[in-house]
Amino acid sequence: MPVVRFAPSPTGFLHIGGARTCLFNWLYARSTKGKFILRIEDTDQVRSEPKYLEEILESLKWMGLDWDEIYYQSKRFDIYMEHAQKLLDEGKAFKEGEAIIYKIPQDTKIRFFDVLRGEIAVDTEQLKDQVMIKSDGSPAYNFCCVVDDALMGMTHIIRGDDHIANTPKQIMLYEALGFKPPKFVHIPMIHGEDGSRMSKRHGATAISEYRKQGYLPEALINYLALLGWNPGTNKEIFSKDDLINEFSLRRINKTAAIFDINRLSWVNGQYIKEMDIEKLTQLIVPFLKEKEYIDDNYDKDWLKGLIDLYKTRLPTLSHFAKLAGFFFIDNVFYDEAAVKEFLMTHAAAEYIEKFKQVLEMTEPFEHKVIEENIRNLVADMGIKAGDIIHPARVALTGGTVSPGIFEIIEFLGKQKTIARLDKVITKINTRAAMFDKLKEL
Ligand code: GLU
Repeated sequence: MPVVRFAPSPTGFLHIGGARTCLFNWLYARSTKGKFILRIEDTDQVRSEPKYLEEILESLKWMGLDWDEIYYQSKRFDIYMEHAQKLLDEGKAFKEGEAIIYKIPQDTKIRFFDVLRGEIAVDTEQLKDQVMIKSDGSPAYNFCCVVDDALMGMTHIIRGDDHIANTPKQIMLYEALGFKPPKFVHIPMIHGEDGSRMSKRHGATAISEYRKQGYLPEALINYLALLGWNPGTNKEIFSKDDLINEFSLRRINKTAAIFDINRLSWVNGQYIKEMDIEKLTQLIVPFLKEKEYIDDNYDKDWLKGLIDLYKTRLPTLSHFAKLAGFFFIDNVFYDEAAVKEFLMTHAAAEYIEKFKQVLEMTEPFEHKVIEENIRNLVADMGIKAGDIIHPARVALTGGTVSPGIFEIIEFLGKQKTIARLDKVITKINTRAAMFDKLKEL
């Protein structure tokens, strides 16, 4: 039975690269009916922090990457010591103060097999003696990693290729301890668009940050799976079950993957679009509460309808509050360019006034009826629909892009719509009066 592990160190947040490594291990285990172990590598007592551990576990749970067993290296110091002692007793290691150091055998070649790269061979001359136990009694990474991977029965080590230089040292320790080495799969790193290794400079790296921004776990998983793994088809949307069915180690790419936030946002948008509206609303509500757009007493049906109207336009959950914010506040933010183009014309105030008069008389206040009445008005005035709709859209939403204006008006409701139009009319007229005065001077 395949046994794999994800071995994060709680010295920082779970980042995109770690999450992808974890996902590949998890997918391999789930697709082969193997075992997936989570091993917390918290041997560095100074740099390991509970808040990081909590965040890592929380992020993994959020992504639904469940583990079959969990171990903490900090609770296994006795086991490491026992194995170091064994090498001491066999004369393969020596002590230097309290530290226990493995003596590198001379003139041998160390070979290991990497599933993506084939056989790799390194001369022992290139390696230094290996500290196994440090003078403070804590184990060194390469040593406890080998002891655990061997004792826990790992069949495959799937990890970032930043560890490839550690592998020969680890192989040596496997051999010294009499363990059979597993297979290795070193996955190429994730790079930013400029080709350098992904870091904070390229945007958010922590998984929790993506969660805060309104990315869905299923979208993140879908995107991360394709970041470095090639399904061999053009298919882009993969449910977890699809991934479990189709994932294979051999289709992992051999070159670095480029992280593309726009691609992730596109995938996320696809999931948002397809999501059950009830669930989507539940997920968006916290973002609206955070902005104080709603409190606990909101009109659920109204909000559901509005989210339904916007759901094809949302790259993330947080975009709803951005795009539809004008529904929830009285002081709409007006985009300067939009105002210049559509509201600072002489015709605008007059058009908006007429538009408003028609709406005042519109009953029932439903988008189909509103549309019919406005189309009639436009015909009567002998103007194009856009002549009146564009200024009205800016007046009501503050900008030039929105879903259908008649739906927007229905959702805003008669009272708010009229009040907002009145405010804009007064503003335009005050400005016009000011300019008229200037002309008299
Ligand atoms: N704790 C190590 C890391 O986070 C694990 C490396 C490995 O997978 O062997 O980089």
